[in-house]
Amino acid sequence: MERVRVRFAPSPTGFAHIGNMRNAVFDWLLAKHAGGEFILRIEDTDRARYVEGALEEIFEALRWLETPYDEGPVQGGPFGPYFQSERLDIYAKYAKQLVEQGDAYYCFCTSERLAEMRKGQEARKEPTGYDRTCLKLSPEEVEANLAAGVPAVIRFKVPYKGETAFCDLVRGEITFRNELLDDFVIIKSDGYPTYHFASIVDDHLMQITHVIRSEEWISSTPKHMLMYAALGWNPPKWVHPPLILGQDGSKLSKRHGAVRFLDYKEKGYLPETMMNFIALLGWSPGEDRELFTTEELIERFSIDGIVNHPVKFDLSKLDWMNGVYMRQADLGRITELCLPYLTEAGLIPENPSPEELSYAKAVIALVQDRMKVLSEAPELTEFFFREDCRYDEKGMKKWLSRDYVLELLRNLAGRIEASAEFTIESLEEAVRMAGEDMDAHGGQVIHPVRMAVTCRTAGPGLFETMEVLGRARVIQRLNRAIGILSESRDD
Ligand code: GLU
Repeated sequence: MERVRVRFAPSPTGFAHIGNMRNAVFDWLLAKHAGGEFILRIEDTDRARYVEGALEEIFEALRWLETPYDEGPVQGGPFGPYFQSERLDIYAKYAKQLVEQGDAYYCFCTSERLAEMRKGQEARKEPTGYDRTCLKLSPEEVEANLAAGVPAVIRFKVPYKGETAFCDLVRGEITFRNELLDDFVIIKSDGYPTYHFASIVDDHLMQITHVIRSEEWISSTPKHMLMYAALGWNPPKWVHPPLILGQDGSKLSKRHGAVRFLDYKEKGYLPETMMNFIALLGWSPGEDRELFTTEELIERFSIDGIVNHPVKFDLSKLDWMNGVYMRQADLGRITELCLPYLTEAGLIPENPSPEELSYAKAVIALVQDRMKVLSEAPELTEFFFREDCRYDEKGMKKWLSRDYVLELLRNLAGRIEASAEFTIESLEEAVRMAGEDMDAHGGQVIHPVRMAVTCRTAGPGLFETMEVLGRARVIQRLNRAIGILSESRDD
């Protein structure tokens, strides 16, 4: 059996997005499932579209997803280099071979001439495409032009007759008429190869067995097949997973939530959620179930399960799934992951002390079950950290303005100060007894006390919250509310 070798081949021309990371996940799962290799190849041959920082995003996205590559830019491998920009002599060699065997030719047409040509074709309602002017040049003319340094590209000579067919493992047999292709460029005037040429040369030399890539490349596959044939190489297996659409059925865009992959990291989704969620974006495990560990995905993944219809990116499902993984995750880990958000919001210092850390952990323990994403941590926990938390206005009007409340809070503060104990049970008892003294019960007691100590109308269990806040903070908050209420009474 052949050894499976797959490659993720991003171009650093923009941020890693969900679409290309889905290909990376499929590549990785297939390689792991088959005990093969996952290769990272950077397709950086389009110098004009190079985006500063894009490369780092790709590395970071793979690191975050925990899909390490077996061969690639950092650690190298037997088929390197893995940056296409470092392989120019390799492409030049094969381009020369194609020229020598008559399957490719130099073209010296200027962009002005090509634009003229195109205008004429459009005016005459002819198909547009290169008109092969330079194919008519004699070898001497070509030599003379090259010697004089006339800018040149190399074009592949498409056999215009007949058809090119290929088998896509997801979509079945696909056939294109060759006359629909024109003599496309394989080496540009700057000496860099085009995507088409570089990718087939590398996929062959790197012994790639399965090319998993976006649907947009289907129409280029005949070009690739023709080049494989001209070079006498066997093509890899083609796999074009389905398009990913937004929930409304239109092309996935910013409107549907983050499209830049690392935005999901910044929003606070967990990598295991992303792995699970992305694996199901166009692949079906054949079971009526949505939650899979990475090991289960590896065990089940197969190309047969890739679906042949567009799939929708469902943000609410992602939120649900993340909530599940957040609840399952270890508290220490979730706390660790929440810290940057808490620091950013100014709730804890950059280098927290051990006491601050254990306080943060106790706080997170109370909200872990309610969080959908890590970035909700500051909003959910702010009142644990800010002495001067802002009272929810409606709640304040509703619960703190009642006659008995000032006395209730004084009574409660007195009880808590006087009690040696400070536990969930002792707090519950103190609140109940203070309520009884005021002849107030249930919500009439709980809500005002919650407002006073948390400034909010809702949150984790009141007594658990008070216990975590600690005696000093609880007293401080009760006194703060008492102060405000007695002042307003004096007015
Ligand atoms: N560099 C191409 C892209 O980013 C790769 C396509 C492929 O996987 O062949 O779209």
